[in-house]
Amino acid sequence: MEAIHSFGVGFFVVNATQISEWGRVAELAKESWLVHGAIGVHPWYVSGLPADWDVALTCWLEQHPELSVGEIGLDKNYPDLDIQESVFRRELQIAHDMKRVVHIHCVGAWGKMMEILRGCKLPPAMIFHAFSGSADLVPELVRKRGYFSFGRAVCDNRRVKLHDAVRAVPNRRLLVESDASFVDDYEDLDNTIHAIADIRNDSYGDIVELSCTVEDVLNDRKI
Ligand SMILES: [Zn+2]
Repeated sequence: MEAIHSFGVGFFVVNATQISEWGRVAELAKESWLVHGAIGVHPWYVSGLPADWDVALTCWLEQHPELSVGEIGLDKNYPDLDIQESVFRRELQIAHDMKRVVHIHCVGAWGKMMEILRGCKLPPAMIFHAFSGSADLVPELVRKRGYFSFGRAVCDNRRVKLHDAVRAVPNRRLLVESDASFVDDYEDLDNTIHAIADIRNDSYGDIVELSCTVEDVLNDRKI
């Protein structure tokens, strides 16, 4: 992590995807001030959950006030959409009750996502990781305390709709991410910032200045 930090990576958001990872994420967040941990159940892993998974999540969050809730959401390329939805709704409710920021994964399910977010109590802030929704959704999600994180996909000039969304996000609601699993992936972060700067007609320095970090999001939600 020290090596990656020296590339210019500010913070590591480490999202658990399933219950078996919650302990390791909590440990990492304790071991390093660079790590922001989040625990939850990812939409890829909703089948076969124990009946009391939500009680377990609540207990873990009570014991770890520094942890956020993530990675949670909907993914239409994976099965059990009904279970994904009910797990996601419950996780949003818990995050609202416990005043935790959430990290949201949404692939191909923006209609359902908006229906859910319009009808429930919302957490203090929502970070949409690898945001893939349309630009039209951005103002409403901003009002719902949404933050928009973009990764290397923005470097692809064929992604016209994605670029429109990058332009629609207001200053201070923009985050840049690697979505990395491996050390090498971080090297793309610089290219991602350059691409975002080009798309928004800003300079690299502007993007560094106007974007925010996960620390900022955690602080903003206290205001
Ligand atoms: Zn994801």
